[in-house]
Amino acid sequence: MNIATTLVHAGTRRDPATGAVAVPVHHSATYQHPGLGQSTGYDYSRTKNPTRAALEDALAQLEGGARGLAFASGMAALHCALQLFGPEDHVVLTEDLYGGTYRLVDRLLRVPHTFVDTSRVEAVRAALRPDTRALLVESPTNPMMKTADLPALVALAREAGILLIVDNTFYTPYLQRPLELGADIVVHSATKYLAGHNDVVAGALVARDAALGERLAYAQNGIGAILGPQDAYLVIRGLKTLALRMEKHQANAREVAAFLERHPKVARVYYPGAGGMLSFDVTDPALVPQVLGAVKLCLFAESLGGVETLITYPTTQTHADIPAERRAALGISDRLLRLSVGIEDCHDIISDLAQALDAGSR
Ligand code: PLP
Repeated sequence: MNIATTLVHAGTRRDPATGAVAVPVHHSATYQHPGLGQSTGYDYSRTKNPTRAALEDALAQLEGGARGLAFASGMAALHCALQLFGPEDHVVLTEDLYGGTYRLVDRLLRVPHTFVDTSRVEAVRAALRPDTRALLVESPTNPMMKTADLPALVALAREAGILLIVDNTFYTPYLQRPLELGADIVVHSATKYLAGHNDVVAGALVARDAALGERLAYAQNGIGAILGPQDAYLVIRGLKTLALRMEKHQANAREVAAFLERHPKVARVYYPGAGGMLSFDVTDPALVPQVLGAVKLCLFAESLGGVETLITYPTTQTHADIPAERRAALGISDRLLRLSVGIEDCHDIISDLAQALDAGSR
């Protein structure tokens, strides 16, 4: 079946007793055993909960993996994935990835790591060491929107005998399915497009094979950063419209990118050609506070992937934890703004950006 169909049916057929079409929200923390040594399949909700299981099964199906796992946030999902490695294991990471991932790896878990431009396969190859155990890639990257050649990285990871982990938050399984290309694990901030309405914080992992899925499930249960049933329900409800939303996000983003390309106060637009995310450099840093103060429809807020258009200043928001020299080297400058293009009418988004860019000259 087409993914648009699979998305709509996420969570259905889970309640044979009533035939409920919407997935029931099971708030039970624990489950009564039929007898000694017997289980309904559910014992305690940290380990398994029926509403979360509906989401986890849907995620596995959508990404083409053996096992899906839902977490309290995207960072909790990444934390769980990094439990696969010991203190001696080295990881190669995309250099301009989400600032929170940088903070987790560099400051909190102190994983031995090397950052590279993962859009350049030879740079990735050069960064591999005998103790490298994984390659963690964002494609497109956040916020510079560089895309990686995933089939080439799959071949490289296989040759080196390491895991390939792909953060698929920006494109979602609607536009890109890394596991089908041979990646081992997909990560999501489900807060973003999967849930899609800026009303829930959630994360996900999907493993391509069952054995790896089992190791991740063991870590998930051991650490306990699970997604609650109400939030799992909200993500399932969001998934149902993902195909429609992604089409609209993408159509709007293409129009907005074309408008910004032509605007005299915009020096450069970074749009990967697909999806709803783009970044742009304004010609003068003074335009940043002007635009952020003048937008009326677009919301000046962190996050992305929801129905509302959000505008972000990576330097002080999403990427504030990255040292200033690193940010400068990556192109995350004091002139860079990031847009998560929503599903409003695109002419309204463009009019708002036009009046905000021109606000200083009125
Ligand atoms: N991965 C990417 C690409 C992100 O943009 C984010 C958050 O912005 C995360 C992971 C972390 O997800 P969360 O905020 O749900 O913890």
